[in-house]
Amino acid sequence: MKYISTRGQAPELGFNDVLLTGLARDGGLYVPLDLPQFSADDIRAFRGMCYQDVALRVMTPFVCPDISEDDLAEIITKAYSTFRHTAIVPLSQSDSNRWILELFHGPTLAFKDVALQLLGHLFDHILTKQGRKVTIVGATSGDTGSAAIECVKDRACAEIFMLHPKGRVSDVQRRQMTTVLSPNVHNLAVDGNFDDCQAMVKALFNDLAFRDEITLSAVNSINWARVMAQIVYYFTSAVALGAPDRAVSYSVPTGNFGDIYAGYMAQKMGLPIRQLIVATNRNDILTRVLTSGDYTVGNVSPTISPSMDIQVSSNFERLLHNLYDGQGDNVRRLMDDLTRSGSFTIDGPELNKAKQIFDAIQVSEGDTEATIKAVFEQTGQLIDPHTAVGVKAAELKNTEPATPMISLSTAHPAKFPDAVEKVTGQHPALPAHMADLFERPEKYDLLDHDLDALKSYIRGNL
Ligand SMILES: *Cc1c(COP(=O)(O)O)cnc(C)c1O
Repeated sequence: MKYISTRGQAPELGFNDVLLTGLARDGGLYVPLDLPQFSADDIRAFRGMCYQDVALRVMTPFVCPDISEDDLAEIITKAYSTFRHTAIVPLSQSDSNRWILELFHGPTLAFKDVALQLLGHLFDHILTKQGRKVTIVGATSGDTGSAAIECVKDRACAEIFMLHPKGRVSDVQRRQMTTVLSPNVHNLAVDGNFDDCQAMVKALFNDLAFRDEITLSAVNSINWARVMAQIVYYFTSAVALGAPDRAVSYSVPTGNFGDIYAGYMAQKMGLPIRQLIVATNRNDILTRVLTSGDYTVGNVSPTISPSMDIQVSSNFERLLHNLYDGQGDNVRRLMDDLTRSGSFTIDGPELNKAKQIFDAIQVSEGDTEATIKAVFEQTGQLIDPHTAVGVKAAELKNTEPATPMISLSTAHPAKFPDAVEKVTGQHPALPAHMADLFERPEKYDLLDHDLDALKSYIRGNL
């Protein structure tokens, strides 16, 4: 598989280089040149297969010829051995024809483990072969950080620097990062919000000299391999509910647009998906752009679903690539507008195309809380606030009750215990492997919202 940049001015790369590079050198994101296609018979053959076997079939075309099928099989087995459920991502039923896909059974209790556990082993495989080492720098609104740290801690192939907005991630989220004391892990609490952190990381990537100096690499959701790993669970869950002979719909709590974009990829690869619902909290830039075409960056407003408290949604650029039929010039023009004026507009055929692919809706804080409460009262199940945003959006936007509606559950309720306890009276317990999280010592440094300070911190710690 060959990959091209959404902005059309970076070299075409194979899978290994795309994995290690993260952001393309022209500032764009890598996307596959053409998508593998799965026929109805191919998809039917997934019935009864375990998650790992479907993963192998779905991902092999994306990694070949750089990684052999045998090597990939081994990587997949290792990656998902850390999950606490043998189904890896089990489905539970929440109402007549409503389902919840539990993506939080990995080590850090959020869906990001599904991709990042795999990425850790992919990095190890490639870098060990090449005898190289990389520096990973990332920004987190809470969940990426711990999942990324968990995937590279104690590995000889990587040094990781993770920026989080000081005071804006939950205690559980912070401790999941800062209690990892491995010498190759560096946590930084930045004076600013998540978008500030993300902008600093982007700026590092755009500083090509520094980028080469430290062999910079990314594991945030701009990395194509994360999207690739997330495509798998759309296939497994749809097949479990009757695909390809029955279509299914998805509601996806969305921030950086990586998870829902993976759903769109699955659809383009042949999976019969009826609705793809983009569910946002009151930071609704995605709902706005997908309904009116207006992508104007506003101020981040903190909510009880903090992993979606963002205004700049990195993977949206990949959708622009699809909407403009791969014309890099158009994507570049819009992204330049965004840098210059904090805004761009899509209209005409592109906006209509986007509306045909996605439904989008914003869910209020009150509705999020009411949904946590209602699901608990109706089923006894505790869901986290991000999941609740998706469940509510599914309820509001579902146009076809006969089609199974799957809400992606992106975090374990114990990751956001206060919000859950407030409305249900139940304190969600941390799983056994994390029960002593609040007794473990923490290690992190404070950093100003300043690019030079970040650079010298990294230089000083390599
Ligand atoms: C990251 C995250 C999201 C948003 O996913 P995107 O791929 O960035 O859209 C939603 N819920 C939780 C719990 C997350 O950690």
